[in-house]
Amino acid sequence: MTVPFVDLKAQYLSIKPEVDAAIQHILDNTQFILGAEVAAFEKEFAEYCGAKHCMGVNNGTSALHLAMLAADIGAGDEVITTPFTFVASVAAIWYTGAKPVFVDIDPKTYLIDPAKIEAAITPKTKAILPVHLYGQACDMDAIMAIAKKHNLIVIEDACQAHGSEWNGKRVGGIGDLAAFSFYPGKNLGAYGEGGATTTNNDEYARKIRMLRDWGAEKKYQHVLKGYNMRLEGMQGAILRVKLKYLEKWTEARREAAKRYDALFAGSGVPTPYVSDKSRHVYHIYSTRTTKRQEWQDALNARGIQSGIHYPIAIHNLPAYADLGYKNGDFPHAEKAAAEQLSLPMFPELTAEMQAEVAAAVIELHKKDAGLAR
Ligand SMILES: *Cc1c(COP(=O)(O)O)cnc(C)c1O
Repeated sequence: MTVPFVDLKAQYLSIKPEVDAAIQHILDNTQFILGAEVAAFEKEFAEYCGAKHCMGVNNGTSALHLAMLAADIGAGDEVITTPFTFVASVAAIWYTGAKPVFVDIDPKTYLIDPAKIEAAITPKTKAILPVHLYGQACDMDAIMAIAKKHNLIVIEDACQAHGSEWNGKRVGGIGDLAAFSFYPGKNLGAYGEGGATTTNNDEYARKIRMLRDWGAEKKYQHVLKGYNMRLEGMQGAILRVKLKYLEKWTEARREAAKRYDALFAGSGVPTPYVSDKSRHVYHIYSTRTTKRQEWQDALNARGIQSGIHYPIAIHNLPAYADLGYKNGDFPHAEKAAAEQLSLPMFPELTAEMQAEVAAAVIELHKKDAGLAR
């Protein structure tokens, strides 16, 4: 049996008539950029997140970038985030001219450690950018309390966390602003590029609507120096179809995670730590091993795909060497980068596929444990 890491085709086939009709609708009405379908999706996704506003943009990176610009973050400011994330979280800070400042992760959750944030705050700190990595929300009670105390803006990187919750509240409606990605492999994926910023703040929403469309209040009335970061009509129409299934797909991911947890129980194979205040939406189901390359090779040989999210902490990437950090500065992030391994996870993953994955992983773990003795 082969087990893919994700299977976008299976999902498309499960909703093909509706998706095809949505695409045909855009071809017929020619609203290729923004338009009625995007506006309707924005309304529906805002509601889903429990946020007042949603602005569709061309990808998740732009969603982060515009969130920060709306909050007037720029040169001379510092933004606190995690070094254990996809590079886009940090790139978006860089685009604004602000300086990314890293805080190590909690090794249990892989998420920014709130207990270490205050030590990183300086007079230049303007915002905290927590990343809800793998689909698990950061401790937003702790982060919002720190932000309030120090008068900081909170921008959630919710690019992997559609539908995730902290303490009963959906991500996207907790911080001042939040960014989502609709990259095809994300929990809610477009069939191309897509993203959105959500906020409860009317002024931020107004600014982002302008900034994504050349800073124009009305056509040719450019009040801000803007960008071309609009969401396409076709993606809006497809996302509307897929949003209807998101809860069902999320529950399927959570069920699959439960099955993995049960299969690994008692084996010693590390399974994800989930806070009891968190609704994890399992964009990624993560284990870890000090023999990652061997495990990946052995899994591949059995037809099982796996992934690494992410192999190098951002402060150790050549592109961000100029931030002045060095290896050793964030030991938990570095260890996670060296050991983390993502197992196949998608809503259509079957119990049979999972049994195959678990049997292979448990066998590898046993072999390593034997060698260690
Ligand atoms: C995917 C992702 C992004 C960027 O989204 P794009 O749509 O690819 O631009 C940002 N942050 C995180 C954590 C992501 O996973």
